[in-house]
Amino acid sequence: MIFPIVAYGDPVLRKKGEEITKDYPELSKLIDDMFDTMHKSRGVGLAAPQIGKAIRLFIIDSRKMYDEGEEEKGLEEVFINAQIIDEEGEDWRFEEGCLSIPTIREDVSRQPKITIQYYDRNFKFQERTFDDLTARVIQHEYDHIEGILFIDHLKPLKKSLLKGKLEKISKGMVDVNYKMKFPKK
Ligand code: ZN
Repeated sequence: MIFPIVAYGDPVLRKKGEEITKDYPELSKLIDDMFDTMHKSRGVGLAAPQIGKAIRLFIIDSRKMYDEGEEEKGLEEVFINAQIIDEEGEDWRFEEGCLSIPTIREDVSRQPKITIQYYDRNFKFQERTFDDLTARVIQHEYDHIEGILFIDHLKPLKKSLLKGKLEKISKGMVDVNYKMKFPKK
């Protein structure tokens, strides 16, 4: 099943996600459906709030961010109840976008290396360190389960310049080639 992606302006994107247990109803199907939804919209990450569920679950597939032949540097993974426990290195800027905020892309500054604890799709505990583009995608998706959006990292002036565009997105006045749910439509 392909979920509609919740657009900017929906309060679910501002909620801090609740932890889940391995008994969460149809968890495995939910994860499969999230992968289908992410691939269909050509995303590299998707967090549960973006499909309307305020829980601590997100998925990533950073493989296609790497050049042909280097895809193995990327990672396909499921993160349940994740906690970033360390971030290190000099901030670096990279252009980010978000399936919930189509057509807006802006440089965001983040640290290059993270250590994160989480449960994988088999509910096996993991503590791993990631860097580069994979860390970047995880940081972006992790923000989602904390109720934070990438535009929150922009300077106030930059963010205020986007206000009109964001208002239009929340009303569905945006060209997008995947299924979305607009809060003010
Ligand atoms: Zn996003």
